[in-house]
Amino acid sequence: MSRSAHPAGPRHADVLPEGHYAAPPADLNVLDPKVWARSVTRGEDGVVTVAGLPVTRLAEEFGTPAYILDEADFRARARAWRTAFGADADVFYAGKAFLSRAVVRWLAEEGLNLDVCSGGELATALSAGMPADRIAFHGNNKSAAEIERAVRAGIGRIVLDSFQEIVRVAHIAQSLGKRQRVQIRVTVGVEAHTHEFIATAHEDQKFGIPLAGGQAAEAVRRALRLDGIELIGIHSHIGSQIFDMSGFEVAAHRVVGLLKDIRDEHGVELPEIDLGGGLGIAYTSGDDPREPHEIAKALTEIVTRECRAARLRTPRISVEPGRAIVGPTAFTLYEVGTVKPLDGLRTYVSVDGGMSDNIRTALYDAEYSVALVSRASDAEPMLVRVVGKHCESGDIVVKDAFLPADLAPGDLIAVPATGAYCRSMASNYNHALRPPVVAVEDGEARVIVRRETEEDLLRLDVG
Ligand SMILES: *Cc1c(COP(=O)(O)O)cnc(C)c1O
Repeated sequence: MSRSAHPAGPRHADVLPEGHYAAPPADLNVLDPKVWARSVTRGEDGVVTVAGLPVTRLAEEFGTPAYILDEADFRARARAWRTAFGADADVFYAGKAFLSRAVVRWLAEEGLNLDVCSGGELATALSAGMPADRIAFHGNNKSAAEIERAVRAGIGRIVLDSFQEIVRVAHIAQSLGKRQRVQIRVTVGVEAHTHEFIATAHEDQKFGIPLAGGQAAEAVRRALRLDGIELIGIHSHIGSQIFDMSGFEVAAHRVVGLLKDIRDEHGVELPEIDLGGGLGIAYTSGDDPREPHEIAKALTEIVTRECRAARLRTPRISVEPGRAIVGPTAFTLYEVGTVKPLDGLRTYVSVDGGMSDNIRTALYDAEYSVALVSRASDAEPMLVRVVGKHCESGDIVVKDAFLPADLAPGDLIAVPATGAYCRSMASNYNHALRPPVVAVEDGEARVIVRRETEEDLLRLDVG
């Protein structure tokens, strides 16, 4: 991360505390299109609008906190991935980033497939009408009941994650008189995060079967012997929030190496290769993500080149973007409750949500941006930390950012790029009521996931 350690500094303090912040932007009223959903803009009256709707009106109608999702932007990004990869590849949206029935319908309409990794995600996908053969099932410990349900539904593929699961899925499918299409997830010894990848001992994690020591080759040997499953390919997922394609290059090289070994040993050329997801998005102005067409071109070239070198037919490629599709399309709208300046340190801005609607900052030290959206302001920038209302000092939403110094209780602020892994990881900590997801499109807003109520909470409490 290359954020400046020597910011020009806000004008309200001579000395700044240590932190990963850039200098304050020249004009805090300007919204960087990189981090905001496409239809977000600040109106002439200073109020930010999305799909033509002022955020002040959205807050009145739906309350805060709320996730506001730009449907046209979601569809455009999904379509861009689909188009970039073309007819010879499959794009599986990773449902764990954010899944609801509306999202499933948009994906189905835009020609994407869907990854699920639990019975709950599978139920959501099926109930919204995603054809079962366009669904892939992931996870390192799928239950027998989940596997049985998936096989019965006619799911497109199950991605096998262990030796036990190879046998488990084969037995369940066989007992149902079916032959289930499967891939084997391998760990290639590459882990990529943000701008770097490490090609060493990163097989030390719970997912996948290591290529190292011939374990993946042994898994293939066993899978090919079982009647209940049909092995269609090899799967590799190397990390998340990746900007650098070199990790995929090494991963593809190693996966193709396995395909070649399989051909040499068994005389079989597996028809598919899945390179996973993990492509990065802009959370702050310092991030520069790649466009889907660049990613598609790079991945296709890598696989084609590696296969040519190994004299293999180029397999059908799949990719599994989650964050890169939904992440940029939503922001979280909060109301400011208190503004607490700490002399010589920073100002703490408390909002009406927090780690219950965005755990990523606490969990991964994630960086976010923030803006005052209910009005424009010409006040000086002040260094702030946006915090939630939970009983936890690590309850931080945005660690270091600048907001106008006249910020006051009742103002609305918004945190962009919260479409992925925020609602899907939301919790009821402190018995918080999880916020709604409001889809906006062309001047219309509609709730696609409603706000939780106290009745929802109390319904589970049956003591
Ligand atoms: C999480 C995950 C993805 C999606 O990752 P993003 O960072 O959201 O693109 C894709 N494939 C697998 C197997 C995953 O576990």
